[in-house]
Amino acid sequence: MYKLIGQILYAPYSVVKGLMITIVHMFRPKVTLQYPDERWTLPEHYRGVPSLPVDSKTGRDKCIACGACARVCPDQVLTVNSETGEDKKRKLTEFTINASKCSFCGLCTEVCPTGAIRMSKHYELAVESREAMVYDLDELHRLGGEFPEEPEPEGSDEETIGATTEGAEQAQ
Ligand code: SF4
Ligand code: SF4
Repeated sequence: MYKLIGQILYAPYSVVKGLMITIVHMFRPKVTLQYPDERWTLPEHYRGVPSLPVDSKTGRDKCIACGACARVCPDQVLTVNSETGEDKKRKLTEFTINASKCSFCGLCTEVCPTGAIRMSKHYELAVESREAMVYDLDELHRLGGEFPEEPEPEGSDEETIGATTEGAEQAQ
């Protein structure tokens, strides 16, 4: 009997307690976002998947196919292949990153002599297969967008971008 009376009295108490919690939270700052309509502002140095931005004027990336990024990558997820054209210039023929194995360490961006490879701010990488996480040049251009307006990194002038095979070999 006493137990039943206690339960009857507890019911309105629990309702009032629940409403109080709701009212208190109505006036607290929101900590959730309506994703994907709303998104967090990422930190300036956030490291998303590596990418190859393109120059807004030429539409080309700044890669000289030296292969330094592929050699330094601790996860061996970069593939860089090139061929020498008739003009004796080294041309990039293949550049891929297997993002499923990338540890986002950023070492590839640190060794790049032209600043061609950059960590993007992309973090929505969900796909339906592992193969889809191997990004080719077109995808890396898309992820990279256009180079931000900032001072050119050392060695990224016109001469270096159009480096001859000889010059690129010296960079190695
Ligand atoms: S971020 Fe690190 S693991 Fe990823 S491609 Fe660059 S060097 Fe390799
Ligand atoms: S280090 Fe830079 S220039 Fe060299 S292959 Fe990698 S992205 Fe291209």
